[in-house]
Amino acid sequence: MFSTLNRRRRPATGAAVLLLMLLTAGGAQAAAPVTPAATAATASAATAAPMQVQARELLKELVDTNTTHAFGSTAAVAALAKRFRAAGFAAEDVVELAPPDHPTKGNLVVRLRGSGTGRPILYLGHLDVVEARREDWSFDPFRLTERDGWLYGRGVIDMKGQDAAMAAALMALKREGFRPARDLIVAFTADEEAGGDANGVEWLFATHRPLVEASLVINPDGGEAGMKSGRRLYVGMQTSEKAVLTFELETTDKGGHSSRPTADNPIYRLAIALTHLAQLRFPVHLTATTRLYFERRAALEHGQLQADMHALAAGTADAAAIDRLSAVVETNILMRTTCTTTQIEGGHAQNALPQRVRATVQCRVLPGETPQSVESTLRNALSDPRIALRVIVPATPSPESPPAPRLLAALESVVSGIWPGVIVLPQMSAGATDSVFTRPLGLPSYGIDGMFDDLDDGRAHGRDERIGVAAFADEVEFTYRLMHRLAATPSL
Ligand SMILES: [Zn+2]
Repeated sequence: MFSTLNRRRRPATGAAVLLLMLLTAGGAQAAAPVTPAATAATASAATAAPMQVQARELLKELVDTNTTHAFGSTAAVAALAKRFRAAGFAAEDVVELAPPDHPTKGNLVVRLRGSGTGRPILYLGHLDVVEARREDWSFDPFRLTERDGWLYGRGVIDMKGQDAAMAAALMALKREGFRPARDLIVAFTADEEAGGDANGVEWLFATHRPLVEASLVINPDGGEAGMKSGRRLYVGMQTSEKAVLTFELETTDKGGHSSRPTADNPIYRLAIALTHLAQLRFPVHLTATTRLYFERRAALEHGQLQADMHALAAGTADAAAIDRLSAVVETNILMRTTCTTTQIEGGHAQNALPQRVRATVQCRVLPGETPQSVESTLRNALSDPRIALRVIVPATPSPESPPAPRLLAALESVVSGIWPGVIVLPQMSAGATDSVFTRPLGLPSYGIDGMFDDLDDGRAHGRDERIGVAAFADEVEFTYRLMHRLAATPSL
């Protein structure tokens, strides 16, 4: 399975250069420039070609290794570790480790040693993928397949493509003899998707913290590079995530025969309360990140929407503007905490008055708001003391990492060097990533990724997951340049 290519630095061969040209020119998104422009930090031709070749080999090896929950990540860890050792990393800098009670949930921590001027940077990449069934797909999901300018396979965008890019970039930096100002650590981890019993990031920080200790975390899983109809729009810098908080509502009655109905039917009682909840809108609350987001996002919009976003960011939005922005799911969820009913059950027989009725309400809480304040807002909205409210999934509070101006500037310079005109957009996501484990530890964590994916054709976790051949090559180059840039700077 292992290639003998690129074990040591050497000039690019003609074949490698040709392959690079094919890799960077053959994509389906030919509308915008896809060939990275040359800058001081650019991989030279001698290293760029081997890096791209190696990235494709790594992607193939990772996709071809089934890392769904049932299989685990240990086999992928062993394959990657072998490659890092072959690339010249010292044995003590390539650490394979798994929880003793979950030997298939392996993790790999690789370190490129710096001068120690600054504190380490940690990159995170989960190796596990969501299940995929052969009969649902056009191709075998566990074989990397190239077709018409696309690479198909489970995990190519979430997130084996990013894993391959990080590994290839780190090996390229090693090959060049790059000595960063701070250690560059990449942790390839288990069990992000299944939300599982052996989450690698949680486990590494709980049991092997010195190995992964850093002052800055980059987690491409939380990043987003958005394009529409072949036009690249933005590269996100995710600073924060909403927290999940789930309640159960319950109300009871003594019941009785359905031929003798009473006014106290608890199904009606709960239905009325849920109707109030349907009308509940939490107050608008912008964070440092969402304010910047709306300010910059406005540049991509036109007309009324653009004006509304500008007004919101400036704090001058009137009620009509708030109403318009609240009517669109994508903007509404960035403006406020949300709670919605997701399950309901009640009653026990066709001919009996119900005795017990329950509903599940799931909230997504903005950073900076407390579970207690959400609960009291809910109680007020339900406005019925006979309805009991209890937390069934408590929120894991995860503070916002500040949208630090120097990091933003570094990212902007890398982005504009590859994709002129593409803006950087600070983001808060409504879903959760492994950064939920690092932010509460006080580690500023940012979701950054340069793999452009069509916003109207999201295939992560879905069938026929794919990435453009050129988009993948760009991601490799982007990852290389950003790693180089961040690791060369002692602090950001
Ligand atoms: Zn992911």
